[in-house]
This record gives sequence, C-alpha cells and structure tokens, in this order.
Amino acid sequence: MFQDKPIPAVISSPVHGIVPSQLSDHAINVLQRLHDSGFSAYLVGGCVRDLLRGLRPKDFDVVTDAKPEQVRALFRHARIIGRRFRIVHVLFGHDMIEVTTFRGGDDDAVRRSEQGRILRDNVFGNIDEDVWRRDFACNALYYNFANAEIVDYVQGWQDVETGHLRVIGDPATRYREDPVRMLRAARFMAKLGFTLTPETAAAIHECRPLLKDIASARLFDESIKIFQGGYAWAAFLQLRELNLLGYLFAGLDDLLNRDYDRVAALIEKILRGTDERIQLQLPVNPAFLLAGLLWADLSRRREHWLHQRVEADTAMELACDEMLEATVRQVAIPRRLTDLMRVIWVLQPQLEREASGKAVGMPLSALNDEQKHLLAHAWFRAALDFLCLRSEIGEVAQTTCAFWRQYAPARDKDSGETVPTTLPEDFAAHGHIQRRPRQRNRRPNRNLGRN
Ligand code: ATP
Ligand code: MG
Repeated sequence: MFQDKPIPAVISSPVHGIVPSQLSDHAINVLQRLHDSGFSAYLVGGCVRDLLRGLRPKDFDVVTDAKPEQVRALFRHARIIGRRFRIVHVLFGHDMIEVTTFRGGDDDAVRRSEQGRILRDNVFGNIDEDVWRRDFACNALYYNFANAEIVDYVQGWQDVETGHLRVIGDPATRYREDPVRMLRAARFMAKLGFTLTPETAAAIHECRPLLKDIASARLFDESIKIFQGGYAWAAFLQLRELNLLGYLFAGLDDLLNRDYDRVAALIEKILRGTDERIQLQLPVNPAFLLAGLLWADLSRRREHWLHQRVEADTAMELACDEMLEATVRQVAIPRRLTDLMRVIWVLQPQLEREASGKAVGMPLSALNDEQKHLLAHAWFRAALDFLCLRSEIGEVAQTTCAFWRQYAPARDKDSGETVPTTLPEDFAAHGHIQRRPRQRNRRPNRNLGRN
C-alpha cells in the first residue's frame, strides 16, 4: 500500500540566518566534495542547533546518502570506525569531521537486546528515515549544503526557538533503545539552558535504572563530555536534579544525599574552576576534576581505615585502592588518569603534615628533606592547587596553603592564582599527560613519604 512520505518544514536561509562563514573550512571542504560527487550533503545535530542559538559549534557533523566506503574513497585521510554504527572520520591534521550515512530500514533490521537496547544499526536509508533515529527534536535539524535550507521533520525549529528538549517519538521506548540519552538530556539542559518537555522528563523516572547496563567505557566518554564541555557545574546540578548522578558515581551520590553542603562545596569550586578555564581556553585535566568529585568519598573511606587503627599512609593507600576499584567498575577511567588522581590524593595529607606549624618566610634552604622531596614532586603543583581549593572551603588551614605557595609562585602570569585549577605544564590541552614522572613502581608514588 502507498504510504505518504512525511513532509518536512523548510526554513530558508534568510529566515534561519546561518551563513557559510560560520562553518569551519573543513566542514565546507567535506560538504563540497560530497556535493560535487553527486551525493547529498547535510550538516546535522548539535552544530545546526548551536548556530541557531548563536553558539560556536563544538564540532560539525555531516550526514549523507553516500555509503561509508564511498565517503572514504573521496578523501585521502579518512577511516571507517564503529561497530554499532559505522561512520567515517575525515581527518584534517588535529581536526576531524564525522560523516554518517543516513540510517533507515524498518525496525526488524535493527538488532536489539531484550530490554530494547539497540545493539547494531547499520541499515542505511533516507533522510526521512534517519530523522527518527535521532535523540531530541532540536538535534534533528538538517542544513542542506546544496541550497542552504534547513529541513525540519520534527518541529525541532520551534524547540530551538523556545528552548525545549523533546525526545523524538515515545520517550520510554527511545530511552530503552539507548539509556545514555537520559545523560545527554542532562548535558543539553546544562549546555543550552533548555527545559525538558513533560513527557521527556517523566519517562526518565522509569528508565533511569537501565543506565546500570551501559558499558563503563561509554559512561567514561559521556562523563568527559558532561564535565569538560565548559558547563560542568550546571551539568552536575542537572544530573542531581534528574537523579542520574548515582549511575556514574554511586558513592558520591550517597554522600550528597546525606550531607549535601559539605560534600558539594569542593565540587562546586572545582567544577566552576574547570568551566572558567575552558572559557579562557586554558588546558584542563580530567584527573583533577575527577579527584575533586571523589574526594569526599575517598576521605570517608580513609577515615574508616584510620578508625581501624591502620597507619596513616596505609589508610590512604587502602582508601585509594577501594575508591578507584569501585569507580572504574562504573565509569572506566583510564589508568593514565587514575594514576594522577591517586597522586593528588596521596600528596594531600603529606603536604598538610609537612607544613604543620611551619612559618611562612622560611628560606628554601631551611626545608627538611621530606619537604624538598614533596616540592620536587612532578605533580606538586596539581596537588597544591587541590590543597588550596580545600583550604578555600575551610577543610585545610589557610597557613598550610600559604606555606607551600611561597615556594611555588604563580607560573601562569595571565591566569595567575585567580584561576585555581592550574595544572603542571606536563598536561596537554585535552587531558593527556605528555610526560609522566619516571616510575619503577606499578603504582606511582605509593611509597612517597614512607621511610
Ligand atoms: P555536542 O556536539 O554539542 O555535544 P551534539 O548534539 O552534536 O552535541 P553529538 O554527540 O555530537 O551531539 O551527536 C551528533 C548528533 O547525533 C546529535 O545531535 C543527534 O542527532 C545524534 N545522536 C548522537 N547521539 C545519539 C544517541 N545516543 N541517540 C540518538 N541520536 C544521537
Ligand atoms: Mg556534535
């Protein structure tokens, strides 16, 4: 039987106001080449939404009717990635444009788990099938490179205008297909200041437990997007509001439920500091903010061991082991980051101990070996910044922070000490540690401070 094709709204260029100079050269390069080769070429998703909201897009996602192999053949530096969804990455030095082929096919073509989760979805289709696979209506606007028109099948234009997040289709079904969409909802609320429509919000209540089944590696990727997008503090509040934080960091969520003000104070400092640094385009390291998020839980575990009369350094080591083990089971924080989190934590009581009762103004030459050892530590600066944030919330005496600060004058004159999360120069822009301290131990600095 003949079935009517959905008719989209079309928004012309003078109405939507997006001009080519707002697009990246690399995005234009990809769109142009697809177009010249006879394929359709659209921008879709966050970039269209962000341009309409007057924001600078984080990345430009392209969608086309060319199959992945056809896309790859058009570009010198392109590779096909992904299993669940096969997509093409077109590389331009450090920049990358993601090119997706329209998805489609009927529901039978999509492999699902018992709960309805999509396991594989590589059936290609047309734009009017692709649109139903997208998460929120505001993320489903297609900018057609051929004529600069925006194609809108789902009234996404209105949502962008009015600031709403609305799941396309039945929210519970769509969350079941991919529970991470609930985390994305919290993220977009924080990033865009949008509100959830009532149906989109209501279904989260019944579907949130499904997040337990999401692979820890995916939850790590999503956490990084949530906390390193420049709106970490707002996102943290939204995750709490929607009752989702526990699916990332269960122990932290429990502590917040018991003693919100105390636990949230350091987190607010660290996340706001991270947001400021991103605003200023300064490098941030996820290990620092993760160390901050989990500090209260770590301290609780350390207290427990101290009550068992375990020696102080050992109590800290045991608490670190427990904390990281429990965390990576939920969110697969890679080793290069957990190593640094551990160092930041372990150095805290040592910095406190070695500064206690010491006067500010002591010459460098008068420091004892232990103090010099700490000062020379590769991650001293990160640990000190962490210590000073703790002193700002009254957890550590200000004199302790001042004692160490005198030996570590502000290195970054532009950002100065007003931006608290200054990290060592060893950190690169995207949180990768370029140079690690030379270590023999499997766990760096485990024995630091022990005689
Ligand atoms: P931003 O880039 O600002 O983080 P975005 O909306 O572009 O936001 P991406 O993760 O880059 O998010 O995804 C690009 C587009 O792909 C989305 O706008 C959406 O249309 C679609 N998409 C991404 N993830 C999902 C998902 N889990 N379910 C359905 N559609 C998705
Ligand atoms: Mg995007």
